[in-house]
Amino acid sequence: MSRSDDLFQAAQVHIPGGVNSPVRAFKGVGGTPIFFKRGKGAYIYDEDDQRYIDYIGSWGPMILGHAYPPVINAVREALDNGLGFGAPTAIETSMADKVCELVPSMEMIRMVSSGTEATMSAIRLARGFTGRDKIVKFEGCYHGHSDSLLVKAGSGALTLGEPNSPGVPAALAEHTITLTFNDIDSVRQAFADVGDQIACIIVEPVAGNMNCIPPVPGFLEGLREVCDQYQSLLIFDEVMTGFRVALGGAQAFYGVKPDLTTLGKVIGGGLPVGAFGGRKEVMSHIAPLGPVYQAGTLSGNPLAMAAGLAMLNALCEEGVHEQLAAKAEYLTEGLKVLAAKHHIPFTTTCVGGMFGLFFTEATEIKGFSDATSCNTQLFSRFFHGMLKQGVYLAPSAFEAGFISNAHTEADLDATLQAADRVFADLTRN
Ligand code: PMP
Repeated sequence: MSRSDDLFQAAQVHIPGGVNSPVRAFKGVGGTPIFFKRGKGAYIYDEDDQRYIDYIGSWGPMILGHAYPPVINAVREALDNGLGFGAPTAIETSMADKVCELVPSMEMIRMVSSGTEATMSAIRLARGFTGRDKIVKFEGCYHGHSDSLLVKAGSGALTLGEPNSPGVPAALAEHTITLTFNDIDSVRQAFADVGDQIACIIVEPVAGNMNCIPPVPGFLEGLREVCDQYQSLLIFDEVMTGFRVALGGAQAFYGVKPDLTTLGKVIGGGLPVGAFGGRKEVMSHIAPLGPVYQAGTLSGNPLAMAAGLAMLNALCEEGVHEQLAAKAEYLTEGLKVLAAKHHIPFTTTCVGGMFGLFFTEATEIKGFSDATSCNTQLFSRFFHGMLKQGVYLAPSAFEAGFISNAHTEADLDATLQAADRVFADLTRN
């Protein structure tokens, strides 16, 4: 028995499923979750002191590696001044200025404490601003677990087979129109039918919660056009892509400007932070400037702001995102070559510092059905094989992978050598 086995047993007594977020329970791949106690750079160490090369990076925030010294030092410095006041602090303004400088579509920003809060608040604002109730989202996209957005959702909801959660009132869910990612015709049709009732489209500009699926050329531009035509708001949920696919997020990478943007993960440097923001005209409807209510006791917490600001400053250094993208490409191309060598049906995607692994004969991955028709059993065997070799991948076939700049060429090569052995094993039965 490993210490993780013991800890998992103990955890299940008072924590539902032994975890505080469902995907962590390994339901998608079977087996017992690993309990970790430490991370440094590209590595995380479990309770038995086993080292793993980590491709989750706390689901995105650890873009420069675990325990990145400038972030840790910034938190340490802030710590001595107290943990929070529930009153304005100067660093909140520095943070707001920095984000608005890096993501110019955000003229104003409000900090929150999670991605879920960010998207939930952005949706409320879009509804309050337009005076309309309906929203459009895409099947397999995940925008956190607020009621309106937990409809045909990706991530853990998809892994656990509960894309429509019990507990979401039907009367609310019926205002959520779910369409097919990368299918602009379905969007045009929905707007032709009820466009004057649609407050907003919310989209992950690169889908990262049904594995990793980039937008096809013209899709994001088409969403912008449709929203302009019907005076609906376009919300880019950049909780995952923000500061990761490019310094200015997916909107900079693809050159499409949303009305509102939601952020999380990287923006907190590992501490619980989210944010939403956008055009001043829209953001002026948020309380106390306007009537749309939104608040948070812990919002703008000084430790979280210190971590986030240190992270954003570090990301502004020359070449960070080029390196990140080159590493993701090296890894995914290498995996493809190895899978082909072993005649395993497999392809990959990557955009900036996020990537996807697909066990499929398909060569082009465009949408939800491509992700769900993959061989999840083969993925699970690959996952466990890699885990035994000391490589920690997301424990679900429906999650994106995250790379960091702490991953060295030696780490990537070690990962590829491990994959070579595991692919060979997969062909044995
Ligand atoms: N939006 C996206 C695109 C996400 O990937 C996530 C979380 N993975 C969320 C929203 C929700 O963020 P959180 O888990 O911080 O509530």
